[in-house]
Amino acid sequence: MGQGQPVDAGRVAAALSGRSVVLVGMMGAGKTSVGKRLAAKLGLPFVDADAEIEAGAQLTISEIFERFGELYFREGERKVIARLLNGGPLVLATGGGAFMNATTRQNIAKYGVSIWLKPSFDILLARVRKKSNRPLLKTADPEQTLRRLLEERTPTYALADLTIESLDGSHETVVDAILRRLDATLGKDVAPVQEARRKVEVPLGARAYSILIGPGVLDEAGAEIARIAPGVHCAIVTDARVAPLYLDRLSASLDQAGLRSTPIVCPPGEATKCYAEFARVCDALIEARIERRDIVIALGGGVIGDLAGFCAASLRRGVRLVQFPTTLLAQVDSSVGGKTGINSRHGKNLVGAFHQPSLVLADTLCLDTLSEREFRAGYAEVVKYGLIGDRGFFEFLESNWRDAFAGGPARAEAIAVSCAAKARVVAADETEQGERALLNLGHTFGHALERLTGYDSARLVHGEGVAIGMVSAFRLSRDLGLCSGQDATRAEAHLKAVGLPTRMRDIPGFDARTEDLLAAMRQDKKVDRGRLTFILVRGIGQSFVARDVDEASVSAFLTREMAVLT
Ligand code: NAD
Ligand code: ZN
Repeated sequence: MGQGQPVDAGRVAAALSGRSVVLVGMMGAGKTSVGKRLAAKLGLPFVDADAEIEAGAQLTISEIFERFGELYFREGERKVIARLLNGGPLVLATGGGAFMNATTRQNIAKYGVSIWLKPSFDILLARVRKKSNRPLLKTADPEQTLRRLLEERTPTYALADLTIESLDGSHETVVDAILRRLDATLGKDVAPVQEARRKVEVPLGARAYSILIGPGVLDEAGAEIARIAPGVHCAIVTDARVAPLYLDRLSASLDQAGLRSTPIVCPPGEATKCYAEFARVCDALIEARIERRDIVIALGGGVIGDLAGFCAASLRRGVRLVQFPTTLLAQVDSSVGGKTGINSRHGKNLVGAFHQPSLVLADTLCLDTLSEREFRAGYAEVVKYGLIGDRGFFEFLESNWRDAFAGGPARAEAIAVSCAAKARVVAADETEQGERALLNLGHTFGHALERLTGYDSARLVHGEGVAIGMVSAFRLSRDLGLCSGQDATRAEAHLKAVGLPTRMRDIPGFDARTEDLLAAMRQDKKVDRGRLTFILVRGIGQSFVARDVDEASVSAFLTREMAVLT
């Protein structure tokens, strides 16, 4: 690619038909230099969003950061980019953090084609070293900071429509590569921006994999699986509720791609994560002659994903796994990250293994057959990603949740952002030594509530427990003086707006005592030598692991919360 005939820039400009070209990527990626040259070739105006912000504020970006803080800057950046995109086609260079904002990404998808400029790390470092005006790099070890920022942002940058990698970083080569890619993409009849189709990469070195998200992925499953494993035999593990809905279409799609498949159907429900079903499915896989090079597909919710994943991890010491999650919870949480397992009579998920999938396929249309309550419960985990570390995403959800519930473009976006957030944490901490614990926001409370309601799904399902748990974490943080009451109220208001329970009093017939709750919390695995470990918050998007929360304050907090039960 890249050699031969020069590209006709006029043809590319015409094919853009009024859309902008938006360059995203790290500081030092060359967005401004490349953008200027590209704009000249396309005959479009060029604007650098950072320069526009500085001119508007009459301050440098560094000064804005120093005087008003990053949050203020991000808010201004979002508005400026929205205004620029609204003003007609242009080539726009955005600041390194701009694409992290979900609302900005949606605006970009609406008005333009996004291009991630991805030079090698060494080039980035060399360029960034030359300049001293990067507020986020004013740290003791800028190289380390740059590396961490890049790792954090990579899954989100990868949501861009096109990625341009450049090893030598020459601006001319990059401009040329962009024109070629645009020409190839825009030349086809298909729109270059498949608004609702997203791809998230989980960067785990040799075990890296992709998550494909969007409507209609089911019918392309065969082609996608054949791409990573041509000609293999697939076993489809599913449950009796999902089978009549999607099994035939999945088999047909595999068949079309030349892949043979054998279905294995389990009973629906949590009880299926047991030794007996594990043994039965493993034997069925052996009888179907699934070999080391073959593939196990988990078609269903988290129960099937966990069970089939553990079978795949164990069979012949590990066969490849494709996760095809059909619940919202499974699409944004359990299918990504490689945790698999079954329950023991001593507790949930006590027997299992880490086994990363080779591919995750999330068809957002499959969620249409989910009950409203199941969808909502999964949505609590979506909100969790915003509350943990992405205030912009939380705000995006506040404004777009109706569209996500109705199956509009915001659904795929919300799922993609959630997967990217999980991918980021998993890549940083695959086996849960540290940062991955943040994903447990609301879960210490939530698990205790599930236990005290006897895992009776008529009264409480996991996501509902998590919603109440997250609100509890915010209220406890507020009582401990860590977080503003305003943020605690705002987090709760959103969960309430979508119809999730937010307080213990919302659970039908719940009347546990403080001691029972504390005892149930101590049973949670996150207890460290008598001290309770909680995920607490300093505000929306600012969570942290608190290992030294003393029981007396938690006990007093619970008593206060319970007092309003009646
Ligand atoms: P689930 O798998 O039991 O699915 C819920 C119900 O919805 C089931 O009855 C199922 O048959 C049905 N269903 C599934 N897809 C459907 C569809 N598209 N249309 C209609 N009905 C459909 O439950 P879940 O909430 O998806 O997952 C919960 C499980 O996930 C728990 O066992 C939990 O421990 C596990 N989990 C694992 C991880 C992990 O990292 N491995 C993370 C979170 C949760
Ligand atoms: Zn959860």
